[in-house]
Amino acid sequence: MKNPYETLGVAKNASADEIKKAYRKLARRYHPDKNPGDAAAEERFKEVQNAYDLLSEPEKREQYDRFGSANGRGPGPGGGGGFNWSTTEGVDFGDLTDLFGGMFGRFGGGGRPSPAERGNDVEVQVNLSFEDALEGAEVKIPVRLEVACHTCHGSGAKPGTAPKVCPQCGGRGVIAESQGFFALSQPCPRCRGNGTIIEEPCPTCRGAGRERRTKRYTVKIPAGVKDGSRIRLKGKGEAGWNGGPAGDLYVVTRVEPSKTFTRRGDDLLVDVHVPFTDAALGTTAKVPTPDGGQVSVKIPSGSEDGKLLRVRGKGAPHLKGSGRGDLIARVKIDVPKKLSKKERELLEQLKEART
Ligand SMILES: [Zn+2]
Ligand SMILES: [Zn+2]
Repeated sequence: MKNPYETLGVAKNASADEIKKAYRKLARRYHPDKNPGDAAAEERFKEVQNAYDLLSEPEKREQYDRFGSANGRGPGPGGGGGFNWSTTEGVDFGDLTDLFGGMFGRFGGGGRPSPAERGNDVEVQVNLSFEDALEGAEVKIPVRLEVACHTCHGSGAKPGTAPKVCPQCGGRGVIAESQGFFALSQPCPRCRGNGTIIEEPCPTCRGAGRERRTKRYTVKIPAGVKDGSRIRLKGKGEAGWNGGPAGDLYVVTRVEPSKTFTRRGDDLLVDVHVPFTDAALGTTAKVPTPDGGQVSVKIPSGSEDGKLLRVRGKGAPHLKGSGRGDLIARVKIDVPKKLSKKERELLEQLKEART
């Protein structure tokens, strides 16, 4: 095995932080996603990974410093190759997954134990009244999802025990079978490619490391959400695999329509009924506001049916930034279905006057 200090380019007395920094820099440089098809870079990447695997664990580092090798307590029977880069224990997979946008899983010449993977995103719907959508609300949402088992914290091993490196494949997750000139790699049947086996499974999850649970989240719905708005709760989705980060939870809002208001973006449309005489002569109408109050709106004389009158800043709150949309009063002209004798006489006179 190469000198891990030289591999990472750090001094022998480098701090954990310096080691981590050097590792990240090199891992970025040699990552297979950045060097597709470059076998030398892939080799370097593995060396860097191995070196970090060793130096990031105080015990392994001490062992190396003392004996110049960490093989004394290597990964177990058959694992003579020192440190397998893919031993997830102690390896900073989470950070790398972030750096490379979760593409870590694509690395490789095949068959390595499953790399860290992000958990699934989960989507839930929440029903809101029209008012709650405007004012914001705090809602409790039950979400059924797969999370790390609460007994074994995701390891799958019975508490007090730990998963062991697979003795059949030495933690590689693959076994090679040579057939004539060819060597065929196959997923290890013993550990099913995981590289580790669980001798005493956790009684709760039977070794899966995961369980389905109903989590109850309290979610703050911001004022101004619309029907179909999506609120992202980072890391509240399903548990990741092999130390990967959890997925996200998306809360999709379903907003009940209002009898009074129609939403148009952040503007609210409301119909104002005005007798035809008032529309002709001009008037002031009371228009309901979404907070339950009223505003007076001047209807100019000669207003036609459907005329829009804008009241600034009385609409729905802007979801982003401050302020609100407008309240838009739409004039609806009421024509009487029945006329009194007096009304009829006056209208007849009006008609005559206009012809
Ligand atoms: Zn468990
Ligand atoms: Zn195996």
